[in-house]
Amino acid sequence: MINNTDDTIAAIATAPGNSGIGVIRISGEKAIEIADSIIVNKSGKKTDIIDQESHTVKYGFVFDGNDTIDEVLVSVFKKPRSYTAEDVVEISCHGGTYVLRRVLSLITERGARPAEPGEFTKRAFMNGRIDLTEAEAVMDVISSGNEFARKNSLSILKGAVHNKIVSMRDKILHETAFIESALDDPEHYSLEGYPEKLKEIIEELIRSVRKMISDSDTGRVLKEGIRTAIAGKPNVGKSSILNLLSGENKAIVTDIPGTTRDIVSSEVSLSGIPLILFDTAGIRETEDTVEKIGVERSRESIDLADLILFTIDSSEGITEEDREIYDLIKANDKKCIILKNKTDLQVEDPDTSYFTDPVIEFSAKTEKGLYELKKKIEEYFLSGEIQNSEDIYITNVRQIKELKYTEDSLLLVIKSIEDKMTEDFFTVDLMDAYSHLGNIIGEDTDEDLFDRIFSEFCMGK
Ligand code: GDP
Repeated sequence: MINNTDDTIAAIATAPGNSGIGVIRISGEKAIEIADSIIVNKSGKKTDIIDQESHTVKYGFVFDGNDTIDEVLVSVFKKPRSYTAEDVVEISCHGGTYVLRRVLSLITERGARPAEPGEFTKRAFMNGRIDLTEAEAVMDVISSGNEFARKNSLSILKGAVHNKIVSMRDKILHETAFIESALDDPEHYSLEGYPEKLKEIIEELIRSVRKMISDSDTGRVLKEGIRTAIAGKPNVGKSSILNLLSGENKAIVTDIPGTTRDIVSSEVSLSGIPLILFDTAGIRETEDTVEKIGVERSRESIDLADLILFTIDSSEGITEEDREIYDLIKANDKKCIILKNKTDLQVEDPDTSYFTDPVIEFSAKTEKGLYELKKKIEEYFLSGEIQNSEDIYITNVRQIKELKYTEDSLLLVIKSIEDKMTEDFFTVDLMDAYSHLGNIIGEDTDEDLFDRIFSEFCMGK
């Protein structure tokens, strides 16, 4: 592991703009000394931050020698029990941009240098407190837009991927070491029948790697949300369905045809499946110019969507208009589920044989069909039920690429075994697989890559 520089770094760790509180974070050898030199108590006396116990907070004032800049709270985290595993001080100021800049500039005058984006996390990584999957998960936790994404990145942050990868690497290392020892010392280690045994172990590893790769698609869908458009002619119940799914009155429900004129979108969770819902104005040819904009937008949102919930009014029967809209959806080659709405109004059952996608008996009023809808979406997007919430989904593109390289190297080992190559051939590809797995967690990776990864972080993290 590369050693840290001796620099002490500092940055404003909270979002830019005025707010109730703004936090300045300092990390490094001189963090505590610098804080000590600028913090005084109410009567202008030194507060001895130097002697402050780790993980405690002290009240004081930032003083630049002439002027009191702000009233603050100072938190001290002594190494190694801190975010970066170095001495860290966090100063909570009043969150005005000007105040924070002045405090930061005072801190840099006293010997800290402004941190690069992501540099605190980079130090945590460099100091061995977290691995690369955990560092990347920090960013994901910050940017997660839904409950699934948050939970997943938090599990990764707690080391779930790390543990999985480390255990795979251990297996590979064990086999490589065995081969090397047997080649060195054939008297004590026999390779008789070993290739068959190794083949089984490698096949098992390939299965795990493939599962992680295939789960990553599910992970991506769950992380980003399934973009879902509710389409259908006016008055079939689109807004009502949107409201039902989002659990609040986001769209205006009305029985005057053509009144939903804009696209309304909301993020909802259908028993754990994140959906980004678009409501569309009723799609139909119209002369009304305002409504035309709505119709255009419906086409747009069909275009944007991963899934269309095509809604029909079962009490009305299937009309030419329904068929036209359905043709439009099919022309766009979209995944589609047909919601046969208003089935609570007991009327004659319309013939839905025109539609080739699954039809769900639905009622926005009685909430009938919600469970079936969830099941269908799982089938379409998640290749079955959303698994156990404990499952970890790798969604980071860089990590998935390394998994694919790992799979390639392991397949080469299988090929060497099948081609009856000598054992020393196996170790070359085994070690390649080992090092690709290492790249996922940031073992033996070059510093350029680290710089690239950490520069994507936000300031102060
Ligand atoms: P949109 O134009 O497609 O968005 O349709 P709305 O959601 O505005 O609904 C049109 C009308 O149908 C409203 O009066 C709703 O209350 C009614 N409606 C919607 N869904 C149902 C349902 O499942 N059952 C019944 N009985 N009425 C519904």
